[in-house]
Amino acid sequence: MARTYDAIVVGAGSVGVPSAYSLASRGLKVLVLDRRSAIGQGENKCAIGGVRATHSDPAKIVLCIRSLEVLTTWKEKYGEDIGWKPGGYCFPVYTEKLESTLRGLFPIQQKYGLVNKWISPDEVDELVPGINRKDLRGGTWSPNDGQVSPIVLPVVLMRHALRMGAEFQVGERVTGYLQEGGAIRGVKTDKDTYLAPRVVVATGSDSAHDGEMLGIKIPVTPDVHEAGITAPLEHFIKPLVVDMRPGPEGKTLNFYFGQNHEGQIIFCYTPKPIILGQERHNSSEFLPILAARMIDLVPRLRHMLVRRTWRGCYPMTPDGVPIIDNVESIKGLTLAVGMCGQGFMLGMGVGQEVASLSLDGKTSLPVEAHSAVKFARDFWAGKTEALK
Ligand SMILES: Cc1cc2nc3c(=O)[nH]c(=O)nc-3n(C[C@H](O)[C@H](O)[C@H](O)COP(=O)(O)OP(=O)(O)OC[C@H]3O[C@@H](n4cnc5c(N)ncnc54)[C@H](O)[C@@H]3O)c2cc1C
Repeated sequence: MARTYDAIVVGAGSVGVPSAYSLASRGLKVLVLDRRSAIGQGENKCAIGGVRATHSDPAKIVLCIRSLEVLTTWKEKYGEDIGWKPGGYCFPVYTEKLESTLRGLFPIQQKYGLVNKWISPDEVDELVPGINRKDLRGGTWSPNDGQVSPIVLPVVLMRHALRMGAEFQVGERVTGYLQEGGAIRGVKTDKDTYLAPRVVVATGSDSAHDGEMLGIKIPVTPDVHEAGITAPLEHFIKPLVVDMRPGPEGKTLNFYFGQNHEGQIIFCYTPKPIILGQERHNSSEFLPILAARMIDLVPRLRHMLVRRTWRGCYPMTPDGVPIIDNVESIKGLTLAVGMCGQGFMLGMGVGQEVASLSLDGKTSLPVEAHSAVKFARDFWAGKTEALK
């Protein structure tokens, strides 16, 4: 006989694990399934761990405020180290245009009570010692943002969820969704069948395929990003630094880096043009481009020893905003997909919202934030015809 649960979460990544944690915290008997051999091994493991609430989209702001509330107090509450490193995000600014764009985001961020402020070149230099001062106009700094370890967090959350009765099964791929009378009934995997009146799809870059299995269109397309990590250095860079200058020959779109809780420099960039798909072998172009760029920005990094590089994906939606919603045509089905480049920082907040949608049947978000992440929305609003 098929095993029965209160809720099944498909995907044990940046979103699935906190969703399971939140559902189990609310007293549900939860099963989590992942096709990979361990939890957190999909895009979650590729993230560099930046967590900020200072976005421009209301849903991302509210969800990341909730994530930060949990993550910044975790150690105090549970005594467990999740690699939280305060220090905020700093965007050094070298052009008038970027200054005006970033200053233009302050009003919406202030509306949600966020601290993001303009700082002088000397203050940027204090946060990022030795930064290239030529044409530096200053920058923005959001002191309440920070970093958490994407390797540690899912494991810690899983342990809590296990203690609350959740079950995790890895190495098991969901191959079909059971539906009956306009409602979800459970899932079929390559090993077994499981029943539940609630199913959460948190399958990241693969979620368009879940849409096909479910008979709905989930507009999520992955694109690739490259990252790397060095041997530890003495701590000297406080924030995560986002460098928006165009790269050599306009090749890179933007690049960000920081020093994690262990002193390692961790860095990531977006290739230009964007590379669609899930080809995970990192290119030989990446490190030379990045090294030159990073040394140009912070010359003292020229001695760093790179230990490892990798490639991963952003599960993108056409409008760059996630889908976190119940599916009207399939009762009991909740989507938490399309996290783009912010799934790790959104995770805890999304988990809470998933529990609310799945269990209470309603959103916990303010109206404008919920509208932004609805499944039934025009994903192409504001896009040109050529991009469709
Ligand atoms: C280089 C890089 C740096 C990044 N840095 C940051 C950062 O600093 N901060 C940040 O917030 N975000 C960052 N991101 C983005 C972040 O990694 C993603 O947005 C996030 O991990 C997506 O979470 P997810 O849970 O949707 O997907 P995942 O973490 O990939 O989880 C989805 C899971 O579903 C499983 N799955 C898929 N299909 C099935 C199936 N049929 N059956 C069973 N299991 C299935 C997969 O195995 C996977 O484990 C970065 C991404 C990259 C590539």
